[in-house]
Amino acid sequence: MAKQSFYNFDLTHLEECLKQQELKPYVAKQLFNWVYKKHITDFKAMSNIGKVAQETLSNVFIFDNLQIVKVLTDENKETVKFLFKLKDNNFIETVIMKFDYGYSVCVSTQVGCNMGCKFCASGTHKKIRNLETSEIVLQFIEANNWLLKNTNEHLSNIVVMGIGEPLDNFDNVVSALKIITCQHGLEIGSRHITISTCGLCNKIIDFAKALPQINIAISLHASNDAIRNKLMPINKTYPLSQLIETCKQYLEISNRRLTFEYILLDGINDSDENALELVELLKGLLCYVNLIPYNETYLSNFKRSKRVRQFFNVLNKNKLQATIRLERGTKIAAACGQLRIQHNDKEKN
Ligand code: SF4
Repeated sequence: MAKQSFYNFDLTHLEECLKQQELKPYVAKQLFNWVYKKHITDFKAMSNIGKVAQETLSNVFIFDNLQIVKVLTDENKETVKFLFKLKDNNFIETVIMKFDYGYSVCVSTQVGCNMGCKFCASGTHKKIRNLETSEIVLQFIEANNWLLKNTNEHLSNIVVMGIGEPLDNFDNVVSALKIITCQHGLEIGSRHITISTCGLCNKIIDFAKALPQINIAISLHASNDAIRNKLMPINKTYPLSQLIETCKQYLEISNRRLTFEYILLDGINDSDENALELVELLKGLLCYVNLIPYNETYLSNFKRSKRVRQFFNVLNKNKLQATIRLERGTKIAAACGQLRIQHNDKEKN
């Protein structure tokens, strides 16, 4: 049997795997402790694991890594963008961002994306495959190692908002987040993690049941079905009425405040009428709206709205809580998927 990446196993899966190898389940916690706390990836160096068990483990698991192809940083090292090469020669992107509260990493969950959102660089390239659990966990580990080496700091937050729709790779994303939040694993607090979805209603509730403390951000980007249908094909499967109903169910389970992401596009979704419609749509929900100035790319014709502040003011006046997202990394192609696409295009030419 081919060896498997150790990073593919959350604690429960690891315990099951160890049982199959006739090892005691408690060894799983010891292994997590060595790998994720002490950063030891040589079974022979794990002193509380017996010799025979060490031998068995080294026949079952490998410790792989992601190959860093490119690292781009802005002048202040406040945004760092990685292009990683996977073992099948596909590429993914990961971004570190510095905030007042610390460093956050934005991880990808798929190679490409099938959701086809019209404003998104990743949506222009179909999904090739889901990332494995290990490939999600390793983005965190590699980014954290780079940060430690270059700034002597640690990652404190994660946003699952890179390339791909996380809930379309449900099992691997949930496993990766279990490793990341596990007290024996990477031990990042669930409340420091946000996962973003374009609105896969059938999976949002499952996710809330699996990991209720993790924050969810819904990519909304429109105040009515007519606009959302044009921007996000997923709206034809799960229209706004169903999405809002799902959000209500989600809130009953998690009681965590929801975030709605709203990219402002010139002349498309940025009028005062749209803002008022949004107020009406989200009335009564425990939520806030994150307004995002659009990063113009050569991949689409959308223009950045000049009405960001005005839109914000209308929401504010009508008591819908909103923030305007800080802009980062525009000079280093930080919009989701741009670096990978530029690299792929270059390889083709
Ligand atoms: S915005 Fe997210 S879900 Fe939509 S195409 Fe881009 S990566 Fe996929």
